[in-house]
Amino acid sequence: MLDLATIRGVLFDMDGVLYRGRQVLAGVAELLAFLDAQGIGYACITNNASMTPAQYEEKLQAMGIAIPAERVVTSALITGRYLRSTYPAGTRVLIVGMRGLRELLLGDGYFVEDRLTPDLVVQGVDFETTYAKLKEATLAIRRGAHYIVTNPDRSFPSEEGLIPGSGAIMAALVAATDATPLVIGKPAPTMFRVAAEMLGLDPAQTLMVGDRLDTDIAGAHTAGMRTALVLTGVTRREDLGADPQPDLVVDDLPALLAHWREAC
Ligand SMILES: [Mg+2]
Repeated sequence: MLDLATIRGVLFDMDGVLYRGRQVLAGVAELLAFLDAQGIGYACITNNASMTPAQYEEKLQAMGIAIPAERVVTSALITGRYLRSTYPAGTRVLIVGMRGLRELLLGDGYFVEDRLTPDLVVQGVDFETTYAKLKEATLAIRRGAHYIVTNPDRSFPSEEGLIPGSGAIMAALVAATDATPLVIGKPAPTMFRVAAEMLGLDPAQTLMVGDRLDTDIAGAHTAGMRTALVLTGVTRREDLGADPQPDLVVDDLPALLAHWREAC
């Protein structure tokens, strides 16, 4: 049984929880005001690193949601933090990814780009992937470079529809190398653990609010967090029954807020 009175921090998934497409969902402002008033910290976590935290701040602001960039945590950001805490300065990297990821890893000179003899291959979504890039990455991984993937999302929501995501490029590299990458983004627990650390939170006192059982809920559960599923996104009530069960299932954020007010 979930006791909301014990929760000291909240991680929100965004699409399907705070908004759907460009439409803000009911109850966001009221819930954030409640958390602020209770002194409960919160952040948003997303696998989608095609936008920077500053761009997410703008997008949220345009929908009337005031969440500063410092509280938006993308899989690229977590990957950068994880790699810095795991590898020494000067580690050589080959990046298969876009500008955001490159700037995060190379911007301050901590990592050094080396396309021929890297220690690490770091891969995310890359809209300009070529055979030559896949070849370089394949040869490096086959020579023993550690293979890190920002997120396993196979498709990527674009204006034109679903297009190949980080997981699709990962599928090509796994096929070519037989390697098993270390995956950072949801549903891997690393994403949740590092996000909780950034907020100074103990996972057991952290509530993940998500709309997907297989990523948001499963990953947070593995990371030792409490979980609440909202039915405003991907997962529907009839999908429930598969493991893991969320600690709480609510129709929407106003229903979550009502539960929380009762618990306090
Ligand atoms: Mg979602």
